[in-house]
Amino acid sequence: MSRNSRYDILFEPVPIGPVTAPNRFYQTPHATGMGNARPNAGRALRAMKAEGGWGVVCTEYCSIHPSSDETPYAFLSLWDDADADQLAQTAAAIHAHGALVGIELWHGGYHSNNRGTREIALAPSAGSSKYFGPNQVRAMDLDDIAAFRRWHRDAALRARDAGFDIVYVYAGHDYLPFQFLSPLANQRRDAYGGSLENRARLLRELTEDTREAVGESCAVAVRLAIDELHGESGVSRDGDGRRVIEYLGELPDLWDIALGGFLGNDSCSSRFSAEGFQERFAAGIKDLTSKPVVSVGRFTSPDTMVAQIRRGVQDFIGAARPSIADPFLPRKIDQGREDEIRECIGCNICRAANNEASPLRCTQNPTIGEEWRRGWHPETIPPARDRRSFLVVGGGPAGLEASLALAGRGHRVTLAEAGAELGGRLLAESSLPGLAQWIRVRDYRAQRLAQMGNVEIYLDSELGAADLREFGADAVVLATGSRWRRDGQGATVRWPLAIDPDARVLTPDDLFAGQDPGGDVLIYDDEHYFMAGALAERLLRDGRRVRLFTPATMISAWTEMTDEQAFIQRRLLELGIDARFGRQLKRIDPGRIVSECVYTGAEQCDDFSSLLLVTGREPVDALFHDLDAAATRIGDCLVPSSIADAVYAGHRFAREFGEDPATLAPRRERVPLQPAIAEAGS
Ligand code: ADP
Ligand code: SF4
Repeated sequence: MSRNSRYDILFEPVPIGPVTAPNRFYQTPHATGMGNARPNAGRALRAMKAEGGWGVVCTEYCSIHPSSDETPYAFLSLWDDADADQLAQTAAAIHAHGALVGIELWHGGYHSNNRGTREIALAPSAGSSKYFGPNQVRAMDLDDIAAFRRWHRDAALRARDAGFDIVYVYAGHDYLPFQFLSPLANQRRDAYGGSLENRARLLRELTEDTREAVGESCAVAVRLAIDELHGESGVSRDGDGRRVIEYLGELPDLWDIALGGFLGNDSCSSRFSAEGFQERFAAGIKDLTSKPVVSVGRFTSPDTMVAQIRRGVQDFIGAARPSIADPFLPRKIDQGREDEIRECIGCNICRAANNEASPLRCTQNPTIGEEWRRGWHPETIPPARDRRSFLVVGGGPAGLEASLALAGRGHRVTLAEAGAELGGRLLAESSLPGLAQWIRVRDYRAQRLAQMGNVEIYLDSELGAADLREFGADAVVLATGSRWRRDGQGATVRWPLAIDPDARVLTPDDLFAGQDPGGDVLIYDDEHYFMAGALAERLLRDGRRVRLFTPATMISAWTEMTDEQAFIQRRLLELGIDARFGRQLKRIDPGRIVSECVYTGAEQCDDFSSLLLVTGREPVDALFHDLDAAATRIGDCLVPSSIADAVYAGHRFAREFGEDPATLAPRRERVPLQPAIAEAGS
């Protein structure tokens, strides 16, 4: 197929200073959880983006000095030539596919707790470190600033020698150059504090230093947090943010516009933002500079991308999450296959990986992070040696992905789903406030399956053990999902609660099945992900009174990992939720709960008219136990977890079926041992 001419503009080359991007698809710097610790995995992940057609591929943040260390989070470093040698291999792997490669030079300032290096943290002004705790940060004196400029220059030179095309000065996300810029973080009284020119002095100097050092061969990009979202007292879009670009507009070769401070604003989930949500911050920047501008906005629609360019919002289509969900997004548009894009759903499971300091994972793309370790490619899957017939039971995320990957390997697949529609848990969950885009997990797979000649799908087909035996497939895969527990067992109370048989308790499944909980609902959340908060939001919006009890100290506590917690709590508080923290259930009587304080054990009774338990889930696996033949359980049917884990389980099953187990162990990153200092010196 050939490209729709409507999208030609996306494939125009764009000069960035001394280099030229082959197209407008720009993978902005984003974390991968690989960093120095997993260099092979990081290199393969970035190279895959270039293979998929991204014209610019950038690394994650790259520390310029040991005083910028975010252990345990995975970052790159350019502290010495050995670091540069390693990064040269990443640059070469990206270049091999014709993309430009950018590197984000980074110093965290008061963001860097330096737990790994134990260096003292530096910042424009003395004060607390960003994280709760006893450690404070030291105000940089003029010698420190001079040293900092040297470190940055040295790192830029190493980046150039390693083969990078675009070198970033990183004044975003509340890191050091931005801390100087912010009138809140910078309380200096010298030439680096006070007026905007003074606060922007370091950014100007860094940009000039970098240009002077590497500007003949490399483009110099500035990533700027245009608004730190603290209103007029901080850097704001219409205040200092705009003035910085008016002041320094022509200095770098490219402006990468980000949002500051709180990361959840920059990679906002779909629950709280629509595609293109950063436009109000990026719009108008191009009027202030002749240099190309890039910004992100979870872009997955090529029409929206074209509109961004035509309306002059930006010159590139910046992307982190859409490039994770589909590393081949540009290639697919180029080949007229835009309906095959695996669209990001904005769930922020990728952000959770970062916040948990673990390798990148994605709900839509089970292969991300596995390019090197398991040799998985997002678009191709090796054909099976022996083609078999498979019966996949259950059309949720696990069953859909298993069917797709099995069929991709050439197997014959029959997918049976009890319900009238494919999607499993996605059908209910995407009906919750803000979660509509989650149905894309189903849509991408259902649409692909419909085009495959070796797949048959049966809806309204609840299968029993006899059906499975009668069907006679070579292999049976059970992807029958999970149900919410009724016994109150959850993350804190890890045993069944004492529940009076006459007490009426509801689970999310009951609400999704249409049961009316009445006008006054007490929710008990001992699961801590999105479900209790999202149901509370729906009920509040329906005009009901909602009380929420949880053993945690905040609403939907685990969503701190997806950068959503503060948004959720704010929204529910604004909607009038009555939340009680640090309380775990002890007993449920008819119309009354007995809860205890998780710290003191002090008991309290509360009446309820409807009690909704959001605690744990249990597998729907009766079929497995009824069956006296072999079957494989995958996804929630084996162990309830996230949608991302269900998709991953389905994909992995299909990849590994029929393969020699000895070949399946993932490769591991190994750091070679070196002599101890005493031995090395002797
Ligand atoms: P997962 O996340 O593991 O994919 P889901 O709960 O989303 O799990 O999906 C499980 C699907 O399996 C649901 O759509 C459900 O209707 C279907 N299902 C459960 N039991 C059967 C059965 N016996 N026959 C056919 N489909 C079933
Ligand atoms: Fe998008 Fe979710 Fe994948 Fe992140 S994990 S890239 S938000 S689909």
